[in-house]
Amino acid sequence: MSTPLRPSNLPKLAVCPCYEPQPNAGSAAARGSSLDTIFRARMAGDPAPLDLVHPPTEEDLAAVEWAVTMITALSSGSPILTREDECRVAVPGFDHIGTADAIMPERLAHADLKTGQKRNYREQMAAYALGLMEQHFASEWTAHLLFCDRREVVTLRFTFEEARQIVDSVVAAWTNPDKQPSVCDYCSWCAKSDTCPARLTLAAQAISTTEPAFNFEAVLADNNNLGRFLTACHVLDALREKAETAAKQRLQAGATIPGWKLTSRRGAQFIRHEDVAACVERFGLNQVLASYGNLSASKLRDLWERTADAPFPEELVKHGPATISLRAASAQLSTQPQTK
Ligand code: SF4
Repeated sequence: MSTPLRPSNLPKLAVCPCYEPQPNAGSAAARGSSLDTIFRARMAGDPAPLDLVHPPTEEDLAAVEWAVTMITALSSGSPILTREDECRVAVPGFDHIGTADAIMPERLAHADLKTGQKRNYREQMAAYALGLMEQHFASEWTAHLLFCDRREVVTLRFTFEEARQIVDSVVAAWTNPDKQPSVCDYCSWCAKSDTCPARLTLAAQAISTTEPAFNFEAVLADNNNLGRFLTACHVLDALREKAETAAKQRLQAGATIPGWKLTSRRGAQFIRHEDVAACVERFGLNQVLASYGNLSASKLRDLWERTADAPFPEELVKHGPATISLRAASAQLSTQPQTK
């Protein structure tokens, strides 16, 4: 039971009770915590700190500005606490003290800024709700998730009993001495990702799908075999990326990796956008824009939100042909061999 019990780990532990966070959280987490810091500074009316691990881009600042607008609207004029010392949340039974991004005590609600894609944060929000209900002597609580890159608000509501039940069930699975790892979408963030027996067993299935010998025709001929093979390849892909990084580093250091060598390619050639102005003078704006091609709707939307006070011109948005892609059907990938 070496995983520190933190509210932020609960969504992962809900899927795999053996999940352990990596000590180095990575660049996405650094961006998330930088945006949190800018959000708090912005709410306090202070300038953004200059010593952030992830220096913000214009898009980051626009995402924070959206979150400030949203939390202001959600508060309906009631006080919003955003200073770290005001937003500490002691969750009953947890050693770690969590920190919410914003608390609106009069509305019995808190908000959490989330960067990146929309994921499940229900168990983390239930833990905060539980702690905040105890602090504020409330029997119900609302959690607003501000997905600032997607400009989307997701609102979750909990009674005390619901929050207690959600948190307790994750903690019970985590403390179970017989808990088993469950391969899932969080494996690549897990400290055990290279050594986890569930993952290694799954990876081995890539070639043992059609035991006693690997037979690709048999893989393609049977839907169960096909599913198991793809699931196994999903794990192998992640391991291959790490193996390639290790091989590159060793080759650069002068080692020999049989069958592999380093190659280098020239970087892509480009014209800096500041220098395109000269081309506009020469060819005219329309010809230069035609060379650039289409602008993504999300880029125009971001630009519009930063500079325009009129509604976004939805009629300009055109849709390309729909694409079909393949993805794992659930957060939990099956490790069970199928009955043949
Ligand atoms: S690697 Fe995946 S399955 Fe294994 S413990 Fe970590 S999260 Fe669970």
